[in-house]
Amino acid sequence: MTAVTRVAIAGSGVAALATAIQLAKAGVEVDVFEAKPEPTVVGSGISLQGNALRVFDALGAWDDIRAAGYPFEGLNLRAPGPGAPIVAELPDVKTGGPDYPAGMGMPRAELTRILLAHATAAGANIRFGAKVTWLVQGDDHVEVFVNEESAGVYDLLVGADGLHSTVRDIIGSETKPEPTGMGIWRSFVSRPAEVVRSELYYGGPVFIAGYTPTGEDSMYAFLVEKAQDRFGTPDDEATQIMLDESRAYDGPWNSIRADLEGGAHANYTWFTQHIVPAPWNRGHVVVIGDAAHSCPPTIAQGAAQALEDAFVLTELLVARDAVDQDLWDEFHARRLPRAQRVVEASVQLGQWQLDGVRDADVPGLMFGVAHQMAEPA
Ligand SMILES: Cc1cc2nc3c(=O)[nH]c(=O)nc-3n(C[C@H](O)[C@H](O)[C@H](O)COP(=O)(O)OP(=O)(O)OC[C@H]3O[C@@H](n4cnc5c(N)ncnc54)[C@H](O)[C@@H]3O)c2cc1C
Repeated sequence: MTAVTRVAIAGSGVAALATAIQLAKAGVEVDVFEAKPEPTVVGSGISLQGNALRVFDALGAWDDIRAAGYPFEGLNLRAPGPGAPIVAELPDVKTGGPDYPAGMGMPRAELTRILLAHATAAGANIRFGAKVTWLVQGDDHVEVFVNEESAGVYDLLVGADGLHSTVRDIIGSETKPEPTGMGIWRSFVSRPAEVVRSELYYGGPVFIAGYTPTGEDSMYAFLVEKAQDRFGTPDDEATQIMLDESRAYDGPWNSIRADLEGGAHANYTWFTQHIVPAPWNRGHVVVIGDAAHSCPPTIAQGAAQALEDAFVLTELLVARDAVDQDLWDEFHARRLPRAQRVVEASVQLGQWQLDGVRDADVPGLMFGVAHQMAEPA
């Protein structure tokens, strides 16, 4: 017996698909509604830390994910300027425990493809071009409206519909993502053989220049700067900005610049932060993932926290026989303080850089948080 027999999910990101996989595997009827017409993915690559990898294992997707990405251990810090010397080789923090690599990079499109395949194989129904637009709550159910029409009555609606969540708005939460003051340029490029783990350059013209391998032939590169109104920058101008801002960085950045000159696309976005105060549910509707919290990717934990939300929620829904206050209390107790700590630490790291604090213990904070992430949610 599970607490739910029929569940609707808004969104098809990691939070939505992890939820769909776990519930469908337990025999729950699952309808996933995704607003976009098809599974296109903006952005380039993603870093997935051990705690995310452990969730993929629980979903049964770890073997496929490991094969499609680039697992690695450790993090190098390099200095700007000639030769890009490695100034620190930071040791592993295995946030997923000893059975998983400390982290891995992978193309976002591959991650989506694999999770969609697992959700479909588990029996979830996935509809694209299906935007959740309204809901009406009953005592023990919720009626979900998709593209303005009723899609049916469900035991639960999971709002995994991202940063600008419609579901969060409909249930009356006033929390909205706030810009943190930093913007990021990203590009998906080829991997020089010498790049075998994430490397970060602190200092120079931008706050952070870095890259993460995502496969034998690929990696994503990024430059973190003070947020500016760069949205809608034409492609050639965007590429030129990445070229100009990266000139102070030597080593593998020479190869990245060659790819940019060869036409690699440059993508820009801002960092945000928010956390919806408890409760994340109203009756038979709950928000998880970026709908509930966002953080700058300074410790690369956004998707990992979305996956943990999905894992804890589905564990409770499958183990219990009612969606009651007891279930929500346990869900919030396990998820909210942990997500809050990650948001605060991620923001703190960025804020030190914005404030120009030179002697901040950046590695110390990163490792302090990472060790906490190694404790199960
Ligand atoms: C620059 C940047 C870099 C990042 N790097 C990392 C990283 O390296 N590692 C990491 O762990 N995290 C990273 N993150 C964070 C990570 O990308 C997010 O935390 C994660 O993708 C959130 O997943 P989600 O499933 O909650 O939401 P999303 O992936 O945003 O999915 C939400 C989905 O809902 C759909 N949707 C929206 N409204 C509706 C509606 N009304 N009805 C139906 N569907 C709807 C959207 O189209 C979308 O497909 C980064 C974030 C940024 C901005």
